[in-house]
Amino acid sequence: MNNKFYIETPVYKSHKLNKEHNKSVFYKMECYQPTGSFKIRGMEELCRFHINNGKRDFIASSGGNAGYSLGYIGQKMGVDITVIVPKTTSQFMINKMTNLGTQVEVYGDVWDEAHQYALKISEERGAVYVSPFDDPLLWKGHSTLIDECAKQIPQPDKIIVSVGGGGLLCGVLQGIKRNGWHETTVITTETIGAASFYKSYQAKEIVELDEIKTIATSLGAKKVAEKSLQLAYDLNVTPFMMSDNEAIRASLDFLDEYNVWVEPACGAAISVPYFYPQMIKEDETALVIVCGGVNIPIKNITHQAPNN
Ligand SMILES: *Cc1c(COP(=O)(O)O)cnc(C)c1O
Repeated sequence: MNNKFYIETPVYKSHKLNKEHNKSVFYKMECYQPTGSFKIRGMEELCRFHINNGKRDFIASSGGNAGYSLGYIGQKMGVDITVIVPKTTSQFMINKMTNLGTQVEVYGDVWDEAHQYALKISEERGAVYVSPFDDPLLWKGHSTLIDECAKQIPQPDKIIVSVGGGGLLCGVLQGIKRNGWHETTVITTETIGAASFYKSYQAKEIVELDEIKTIATSLGAKKVAEKSLQLAYDLNVTPFMMSDNEAIRASLDFLDEYNVWVEPACGAAISVPYFYPQMIKEDETALVIVCGGVNIPIKNITHQAPNN
């Protein structure tokens, strides 16, 4: 079990943005992970830790990329994974998880009900409850992507990263600290209907959203991890929001640029150099974390996307 399952992903320089805006923009291609997203990094770290401590039973309540990456790692490491999902979860994601041998159980109308039930049965069974974003083991795993970037490119002036519950952001900020990139400014991206980090950052305390309204479902956490806010105040962070439409258009433009489909949750980050290039100055370099995501099939997008 010493070989790792996540891969060291490449960093590409965008020729398109270099030509169009004379900007140096780099993409960290986490969309190339075997599970299509960075989530595999954290899940691998988390599972290794608990397996070393004798655990072989894991329960999560995410029907998205977190549950899928956990299922993938569980299959590779030969441990039991149960994912409790609410009724709203797509058959598409349920199939992806069951194909890996993940036990998927549908419970509750909304995520919170599935989450409460997952907590209850993990306690009863003595299983490990796995949060989709709020666990230091996940942050440690995610932070390895910055260690890789530090070997791949010089320190960037800007890093652009999407925020859902803030697990990826915690990893990125910890990686920035570890590599001495304190001068780098982190631009966080969220769609307007899922701006829990933006609102919390402005309020200087955790703000819980009443509802989530966005196509970028992977960004849909009503409140972010406390740690993401603490770390953000230690470093240079600029929170930013855009429309669902811009996030979708960025995913479609990225498909044209690299022939890879990523969720609008990831399009949110890519929309900054595409549609707000003025946020990166001409002599600056920017690193976009292409976080990926497999839970919105392109077929679901193309019939509702605008023509322009
Ligand atoms: C999970 C996820 C996010 C958000 O990550 P958090 O750790 O919840 O902030 C963004 N994009 C994709 C594709 C994801 O899977």
